[in-house]
Amino acid sequence: MKKWLLLSMALYSANVLALPRENPVPGGIVHIPIAPLSDPAPIVQYAGNRVTVVPQDSQWLAIIGIPLDTEGDTQNVNVQGQEPIAFPIQPKQYKTQRITIKDKNKVEPDDESTQRILREQMLQQQLKTRFSVGEAQLDFIKPVPGRDTGRFGLKRFINNQPRNPHSGMDIAAATGTPVKATTAGKVIHTDDFFFSGNTVYLDHGAGVISMYAHLSEIQVETGDIVQQGDIIGKVGSTGRATGPHLHWSVYLNGEAVDPALFLSNKK
Ligand SMILES: [Zn+2]
Repeated sequence: MKKWLLLSMALYSANVLALPRENPVPGGIVHIPIAPLSDPAPIVQYAGNRVTVVPQDSQWLAIIGIPLDTEGDTQNVNVQGQEPIAFPIQPKQYKTQRITIKDKNKVEPDDESTQRILREQMLQQQLKTRFSVGEAQLDFIKPVPGRDTGRFGLKRFINNQPRNPHSGMDIAAATGTPVKATTAGKVIHTDDFFFSGNTVYLDHGAGVISMYAHLSEIQVETGDIVQQGDIIGKVGSTGRATGPHLHWSVYLNGEAVDPALFLSNKK
């Protein structure tokens, strides 16, 4: 490719970021123009959490994650120093998935396990709602190649008992398959959790967080800086899993959103 063409593409891309696709449903994403780029970057909040804001064309654009349990059709986003902005969402019925887990304690945890689960849920809540200053990285790749076996949002029955809806994408892959960072970021936590097993959390800036679960091996440490495609661990079946796969979650303003929305413009 000629040099001048590369240069003009670079200039063109300055304010045209790769963005996740919009889908105004529970578990989806909404884009809301907030202010002209000539204004300082606005501070935006939704449902009590800070919202990712990116420069796009000539505007500051809020990229809002809609909680899976949202009810009603009109939502409000708060902008510091402005009136709230109302926006519509549509209902969505997610399908039901039935799973059988052999380890009974992973389905009906004993008291000791319950205490551990509560501690881990508090920590995970802090990790997914983390908002660090800086530019958001939103140009994602799929962390492992493979078939999506558990789609985001499925209503789950585990051993016939209702459980939380599925908060990520499950990708089938053999144990040991390298797991790649979906985009550049910082490792903010690694752990062995009761449900998600060996888990890595990455912070991609300004409220964009990704999480990788059930790993057989973790190959990064808290504080590491990773580039897109860097290997962070290996596929496994640790925690509550029916078999080897990667569970991949993406959080915007602390809410799990459908990771597929970040990949829909990719091959
Ligand atoms: Zn999963």
